[in-house]
Amino acid sequence: MDDSTPTTQVDVAIVGAGPIGLCFANALSRQGVSSMLIDRQPRSAMADPGNDGREIALTRASQQILDRLGVWSGIDPAERTRMRAAKVFDGQSLFAMEIAPGATRDDPLGCLVPNRVIRRAAYGALQPEAPGAGDILWRDEGEIVRFQANEAAVDIELGSGERVQASLLVAADSRFSTTRRAMGIPARTYQHGEQMLVCRMHHDEPHDQTAWEWFGYGQTLALLPVDTHCSSLVLTLSPEAMAQQLALSDAAFDADITRRFEGRLGAMHRIAEPHCYPLVSVYAERFVGHRQALIGDAAVGMHPVTAHGFNLGLQGLARLAELVGEARQQGRDIASPALLRRYQREQRLATGPLFAATLAIVGLYTDDRPPARLLRKAVLRAGETAWPIRRLIAGHLTRSAS
Ligand SMILES: Cc1cc2nc3c(=O)[nH]c(=O)nc-3n(C[C@H](O)[C@H](O)[C@H](O)COP(=O)(O)OP(=O)(O)OC[C@H]3O[C@@H](n4cnc5c(N)ncnc54)[C@H](O)[C@@H]3O)c2cc1C
Repeated sequence: MDDSTPTTQVDVAIVGAGPIGLCFANALSRQGVSSMLIDRQPRSAMADPGNDGREIALTRASQQILDRLGVWSGIDPAERTRMRAAKVFDGQSLFAMEIAPGATRDDPLGCLVPNRVIRRAAYGALQPEAPGAGDILWRDEGEIVRFQANEAAVDIELGSGERVQASLLVAADSRFSTTRRAMGIPARTYQHGEQMLVCRMHHDEPHDQTAWEWFGYGQTLALLPVDTHCSSLVLTLSPEAMAQQLALSDAAFDADITRRFEGRLGAMHRIAEPHCYPLVSVYAERFVGHRQALIGDAAVGMHPVTAHGFNLGLQGLARLAELVGEARQQGRDIASPALLRRYQREQRLATGPLFAATLAIVGLYTDDRPPARLLRKAVLRAGETAWPIRRLIAGHLTRSAS
C-alpha cells in the first residue's frame, strides 16, 4: 500500500451489504459503533432489490430483532403472511405430520416475507431520515483487494485505492464468501447435487395458511402460503430434471406442477418468473480470526429445507453487536480475542445442532431406497405420535428473542 494515501478510520468494516450485513451495521450503530459497508452492488440495487423468488419464513425471535432495528415497521403488513401450521408429507402417503404452535388459530407458527421486501426494509432503516440511523459509510460497487490484521487494527485496501483502518473486519459476503477464504478460514461444503426452483403459483383451493413440505420420491416439494389462493412453490430436482422443467411451456409447466401435487390444491398456474438455486450447505470451521469475524451465510450457509439461514444469521449478528457494544461502553477493545471467542462459542452452539439435523433430514428424505423409505415413514409417524418432537420444532419457530 502507498503510505501517502489518506486512511479512513472506522470501528468495523463489513464486506457484504446483503440482509445480514445491513442489519449488522444497523445493530452496531445503535450501540454507538461506526461501520463501513462494502458491497459489489450499486446503491440502486440495494435500495430496490429485484425479485429473487425467496419467501423467508421468519421466527418470532427474528421478528423481534427486526423490530428492534426499525426494519419490521418498514415492512408493509400486506407483505407479511402469517403461517398457522406446517404439514410434512412423505412419499405417496396422504398422511401428514402437522406442526402447529398448539394454542389458538391466532397464534402463528411464523411469518413469511419476500426476501426482496426484507432487503429493501433493511436498507431503508439505514437511511439518514430513518429513526436511529447512525454512523455508516457506504462503499457500493466496492470490494476489498487486500487486508492485513495487525496488533491494534486491520489495514484494508479497497479496489478504488482507498485505505481503511478498522478495529474489526467482518465477512457477510454470502456462503461463497471470498473474504472468508482470504481470511484463511476453511469451511465444510456440502454439494447436495440438486437444484431448487422457487416461484409463486395460483391454486384453485385455499391453503388454510398452512405450509406444505412434501418429501416425494425423486422430488421434494414445498408450498409456502401467500394469499388465500396463492403460494410460493419450492421444487427440488436433479440438475437434468430441472433443465427439462425450465424448458416447459407455461401451460405444460402449470399442468406438470398440478400433477406433482396430485391436484390436492386444484389446478395451479404460475404467476411469477421461476428462480433456481444450486443446493450447497456450508459450515465454516471457525467463525473468528485475529480481528476478524464471519456472520450470516458466510459463517453458516443452511440448506433452505428447514428455512433457518436468515433466522440464524440474525441471531448471530445480534449476539456479536451486543458484545461489541458492551465492550465499547466499558472502554474495552471491541475485537479482543476473548470477545470473539465468546461470539464463536455461542454462535456455534446455536447453529451446529440445527445444521447437523438439517443435513440428516436432507440425507434421509432424498434417499428413495426401500430401507430409507421405511425409516422415513417411521420418523414421520414417531413425530406425529410423539408430542415432544412436534413441540420442539414448533417451539423453535415460535420462541422469542432474548
Ligand atoms: C430458496 C431459498 C429460500 C430460503 N428461505 C429461507 C427461509 O425461509 N428462512 C430463512 O431464515 N432463510 C432462508 N433462506 C436463506 C437466506 O436467504 C440467507 O440466509 C440470507 O440471504 C443470507 O444473507 P447474507 O446477507 O448473509 O448473504 P447474501 O444474501 O448472500 O448477501 C451477500 C451480499 O454480499 C455481497 N458480496 C458478495 N461477495 C462480495 C465481495 N467479494 N465483495 C463485496 N460484496 C460482496 C453480495 O452482493 C450481497 O449483497 C433461503 C435461501 C434460499 C436460497
